[in-house]
Amino acid sequence: MCEMTEILEHAERFECVTCGHEWEKESEAAGARVVKDAFGTVLADGDSVTLIKDLKLRGGSQVLKGGTKVKSIRLVDGDHEISCKIEGSAMGLKACFVKKA
Ligand SMILES: [Zn+2]
Repeated sequence: MCEMTEILEHAERFECVTCGHEWEKESEAAGARVVKDAFGTVLADGDSVTLIKDLKLRGGSQVLKGGTKVKSIRLVDGDHEISCKIEGSAMGLKACFVKKA
């Protein structure tokens, strides 16, 4: 066994530079979550979504109106599955409060 100090990362697999051994990104695939919007539509990175209700931000000083369109979402781990930018600010949204646009 080589020590795999240099690893090439491909889209769906890793490759050891030293010996050429390749293996699937199993751990990542196993941990991948399916994130669904409020109506059960599967969301993906880069999707656009629309808020289905008003959402209060940071203690209620700011409100995101239902119907606001959010472009180029990114799915992330955590309580708020959607990372996005709204009016220039980065924020996290819960998938259950949006629908795919
Ligand atoms: Zn190797």
